Amino acid sequence: MKIDLAGKVGIVTGGSRGIGYSIAQALTGAGAKVAVLARDGAKAEQAARSLGDSAARGFACDVANARQVETTVGTVEREFGKIDILVNNAGTTRDNLLFRINEDDWSTVLDTNLKGAFLMTKHAARGMIKRRWGRIVNITSVVGISGNKGQANYTASKAGLIGLTKSVSKELASRNVLVNAVAPGFIDTELTRKITGEARQTLIRAIPMGRLGQGSDVASAVLFLASDFASYITGQVLVVDGGMVL
Ligand code: NDP
Repeated sequence: MKIDLAGKVGIVTGGSRGIGYSIAQALTGAGAKVAVLARDGAKAEQAARSLGDSAARGFACDVANARQVETTVGTVEREFGKIDILVNNAGTTRDNLLFRINEDDWSTVLDTNLKGAFLMTKHAARGMIKRRWGRIVNITSVVGISGNKGQANYTASKAGLIGLTKSVSKELASRNVLVNAVAPGFIDTELTRKITGEARQTLIRAIPMGRLGQGSDVASAVLFLASDFASYITGQVLVVDGGMVL
């Protein structure tokens, strides 16, 4: 199975590092042109340069900011001609036990992880609908399915993303715009390097495959869902976790 995305244009939010960067790498590797978005525009541009000047471009965009999302989607459409693939990957954590989560911790996480995906989808989907071809992949998490102590805000945002995926998939299916989610388990990135020592070892022991996932493990699933090999799949959640949550 060789995935060919030549002629397609993708946007990866949070593509400057971690899982998002691996996704951008997989999409450009399959021939797509990719817009890499992150709040830090210099880092987004640096990531894009390392993917190849003709394959990618970086843009500063806070997905939680409606005005920035609208402007950036417009700029990408003007510069690349269209958007075929949207990967809502940007995400953040403010972990704490319920009674210690303040309103700011709640809003930051929900606004980035859930409102950001809603805003991006709303603006990027219009052109996909017109052209009768589109792929939207939302990066949720296994803890959005299972719940997790100390992550009420994060798990709520990721469970919400699954609801968003299912509802929007039903709205857009007749226009051949397919909307799916990928739920990674424990992936080795900056986000999870905060988990150290015994806590890290306990988590690794809970993974039947006995290792952390890599960004490329998640990127392969996204690449499949963005391709014509997934042309009759919509509204699904594909878990990529080495068997951790069954
Ligand atoms: P990282 O922290 O390594 O990278 C996060 C990326 O998102 C960066 O590019 C960051 O750039 C960008 N970002 C953060 N906030 C915003 C914002 N408001 N607007 C635009 N971009 C933003 O995270 P990971 O690669 O680990 O995670 C990627 C996704 O995968 C997240 O949605 C996460 O919840 C999910 N996930 C990760 C797992 C893991 O084990 N690592 C497990 C399950 C899900 P900048 O700071 O410049 O904005």
